[in-house]
Amino acid sequence: MQLTNRSRVVSNKKQSFAEKAYFPAIIKGMMITMSHLLKKPATIQYPEQVRPMAPVYRGQHILKRDENGAERCTACGLCAVACPAEAITMESAERKKGEENLYREEKYATIYEINMLRCIFCGLCEEACPKEAIFLTDKTVPSEFERGDFVYGKDKLTETLDNTRKVDVSKRQTEEVKEFKKIPGPKHNTLFDKKSLDHKH
Ligand code: SF4
Ligand code: SF4
Repeated sequence: MQLTNRSRVVSNKKQSFAEKAYFPAIIKGMMITMSHLLKKPATIQYPEQVRPMAPVYRGQHILKRDENGAERCTACGLCAVACPAEAITMESAERKKGEENLYREEKYATIYEINMLRCIFCGLCEEACPKEAIFLTDKTVPSEFERGDFVYGKDKLTETLDNTRKVDVSKRQTEEVKEFKKIPGPKHNTLFDKKSLDHKH
């Protein structure tokens, strides 16, 4: 029974002298090599040259701060639950009086770790987060020599306080989310009022 039509009849004809000397095959191979010399190389000189990424490329995570520099993450654990690779772990603590400038919510993450070797950069943690605290950026996770160095803690994940180096994540938010944020009603959208806090303490 013939399953496919890809079968080949093997030729038993005697090889010519040129064929025995592999001349045609060598010349054919050299022609292919020469043709590639004239083509634009497919390789790039990374890291000096960086290939253009898709606008929605998902790379290294960032833990965002709010407009006043306070950490947005409230250690609710939803990102860890949503993570199919079980790459996220965290420990939480209650915010103390006077720490309102540091942490936006009453509970915050004392430890927040992502194992970049487990992560598949699916973006589900970003989608699960109710506080817009975690986003994936277009930064590539750099290579390391030790496995332990791929476990990123808050020191590597939390956004800098330097306003000139803030990471714009607006391209990762849907139009619906951007519209929702314009509604001042929900607590989630209210801005941290530093003056009223200073007055309280
Ligand atoms: S991107 Fe996906 S795999 Fe990576 S930490 Fe987030 S949910 Fe987990
Ligand atoms: S990053 Fe978001 S989902 Fe994850 S623990 Fe923090 S607030 Fe919750």
